[in-house]
Amino acid sequence: MPITEAEKIWKDGALVDWADANVHVLSHAVHYGSGVFEGIRAYATERGPAVWHLDEHLKRLFRSAKLYHMDIPYSVEAITDAVREVIRANGLDACYIRPVVLRGYGEMGVNPLNAPVNVFIATWPWGAYLGEDALENGVRIKISSWRRNTQNALPSSAKATGQYINGVLAKIESLKAGYDEAVMLNEQGYITDGSGENLFIVRDSRLTTPPISAGCLDGITRGSVIRIARDLGYEVTEENLVRTDLYNADECFFTGTAAEITPVREVDDRAVGEGHRGPVTKELQGAFFAATKGETEAYASWLTYVNE
Ligand code: PMP
Repeated sequence: MPITEAEKIWKDGALVDWADANVHVLSHAVHYGSGVFEGIRAYATERGPAVWHLDEHLKRLFRSAKLYHMDIPYSVEAITDAVREVIRANGLDACYIRPVVLRGYGEMGVNPLNAPVNVFIATWPWGAYLGEDALENGVRIKISSWRRNTQNALPSSAKATGQYINGVLAKIESLKAGYDEAVMLNEQGYITDGSGENLFIVRDSRLTTPPISAGCLDGITRGSVIRIARDLGYEVTEENLVRTDLYNADECFFTGTAAEITPVREVDDRAVGEGHRGPVTKELQGAFFAATKGETEAYASWLTYVNE
């Protein structure tokens, strides 16, 4: 998806022009994938832009960095202020926010420990990840022939740049075969997640999503949807799923910061349920988007207002 440029990017403590937020080609991260990042959204509310689950995203960013022994040279509070500052500087309302912490320039070789750590925070307007149409009509997905990286090779609890080359293989395969997105199985054959989304199924009005131990990312939208669904009275379980659970579901949907709640209408050329967005998915979308706009008192603490 093309990037809509904004004016400024926060780089190592100051705002710089969009075009000047560069890294050297010999930076460690370029060669060895040694970066950690987050994908965050801010939504338009009556009180101006509000960042969705900013605290949770920054906690995950710091956890990812810790796993790779990267010391982020700023406090969580400083990064929180920086996110607000860059949204304000770009005059954005609803937007996507991409903090990335990477091993920079100065050393070559796999050892990352002597390379500097650089921090960037970019923001830009970003629409529906899998297309506006997908939010209503759903996507067609394929179970990938590529397996998800195993926990003891590349730990899925970290959101590290290099780890995404696994999802890149799966995404390419699915697009070339004419699908919208891929879902990967783990080495045991259980469902993990999409290349950038967690997955849920609905059967007999019960929701099920794979446990984090299956090897999926501990998605922040996943957590919000579990809470919202339970508050609406649905039973939600975290259980291993096999591919046929998807084929036989009444409904299936993706969750993710970028994908929000996107219905899945087909898995491996089999219609899921009626082959279009189901009533539970629609109800969850309604509750989710109301919360992002600040309309739900119970979830008010999930928003950080940029201008207050
Ligand atoms: N799985 C993967 C592999 C992802 O990249 C993402 C996006 N961060 C997700 C799931 C969804 O996570 P979140 O809801 O925190 O965006």
